[in-house]
Formats: sequence, structure tokens, C-alpha cells
Amino acid sequence: MVNLFMTDPSPKSSSSLIMPGDVTSTCWSCGTMRAEHFCSACGKVQPPVPVDYFAFFGFPRKLNVDVALLEREFYQLSRKLHPDLYSRAEKREQEWSLEQSSQLNDAYRTLKDPIRRTEYLLRLEGVELEEQSKTATDQARATGQVKKQVVPPDLLEEVFDLNMQLEELRMQKKMGEDDPALIEEIGRQKLELEEKHEALLGELKREWAEWDRAVDSGSEAERLKIRDKMVDILNRRNYLRNLVRDVNEVLESGT
Ligand SMILES: [Zn+2]
Repeated sequence: MVNLFMTDPSPKSSSSLIMPGDVTSTCWSCGTMRAEHFCSACGKVQPPVPVDYFAFFGFPRKLNVDVALLEREFYQLSRKLHPDLYSRAEKREQEWSLEQSSQLNDAYRTLKDPIRRTEYLLRLEGVELEEQSKTATDQARATGQVKKQVVPPDLLEEVFDLNMQLEELRMQKKMGEDDPALIEEIGRQKLELEEKHEALLGELKREWAEWDRAVDSGSEAERLKIRDKMVDILNRRNYLRNLVRDVNEVLESGT
């Protein structure tokens, strides 16, 4: 099932991503070997180097991120990179402080959020999550066509029943009728779906620990297995979210 949700898994498909590169080179100003964001000798801001968001903070590509540490690093770097500090610096140093600040903000926002962090890592690992093709989703919604989405097998029965009931409610609403029992039943199912959606975050976090262990042990086969599990969890989660959104649309329509 996992493969249905993935497009070309080759590294080329993530060419828009900043990929890890050589993070250390020579300082443009004093010529010594520099550290990542500033020169360790003269302290000048360095031109941004294309690195992934984990590397930007000097973190390994692991999913259990120490959020307190991430925050500390973020605030410290924000202060040190603040463009106001460079108003009298050379033009290029001003620009680099701006570029580095914006990279810093993107990296922080992405790593702070558990879902965005996981999705980002999966993209680094060559996975293109279906839900991330936002254009396809928007197009489908604009044209009223149902976007091809595979129902997770464990939800098949429930989704079938729910869709029947939603259809019934749509018809009733069209005819200006209202069946409180049906609305209540749909509301009850919606609550269940929301609970399942919530529980999947816990399931995902359990995979984080497995992933981090596999990174340490260096087992490629193990990593691929966990990667696919996480893709599956995220897809189920997105599916549930879309379903709840559809239910809300029907419940709220014509009222
Ligand atoms: Zn220097």
C-alpha cells in the first residue's frame, strides 16, 4: 500500500530541497577555516551554505529532537544574525545575515513541529508524500472531482458506512428535511475519526525512536522499513483529516 502513495523515490525528485553540502570552508574576510554561520576567528557572518535544516542546527537526522535545545539555539542565532547588527557592515555581510536569518526561521519552524519535522525528514529520504502535492488537492477540490485517494484497509468498512450516511444527509438537506438521529450518528463517528487522527501522532512518535535507533545502528534495511511505516501513518492521518473536513462540510451545508 505504501508504494501507492509515493512517487519517484529517486533523489532527483527532491531537487528543490536544500541538500547537505560542505558546511565548512574558508572565511571570506580573514581566510581562516570558518564555523558554520560565523567565522570562528573573526566573527563575520558567512554566506549561507546549502545544508538541510537538521545540519543547519548541527543536529543529526533524527526525529527525537531536543526542543528546548532547538529553541535555545534558535534564539541565540536569531540575536546574533539580526540584520540590525549589520547595518554598518559591508553590503554582502548585510545580505548574508538576512539570508541566514530567513534560513534559520524556516529551519526552526520546520523542526519545531512534529509533523512538519517528520515530513521534512521523509522528503530528505526521497519520499514525496501524496498530501504534499497541494496543487493536485486544490485542483480536485476546485473541479469537484474526487481526488484519487486509497482508503486505508483498516478503515474501509467504516468509511463505506459513513459515506452512505453522508449521502443520505445530503439528500435530506436538499429536500429541506432534517433527521436529528442521523446527524447525531454522523457526529459520533466524526468524534471517533478525530480520536483516531489524534492517536496516530502517538504511533508516529513511537516510530521516531525506532528511526533514531536505526540511524545509530546504520542499518539501511531497517531505516527503509521504518521510513515506509511513517509514510503509512502520515497518509492515514491525512486521510482522516480530509474525511473529517468532508463530514464538517456536509454537516454545515445549508444551515
Ligand atoms: Zn574570519
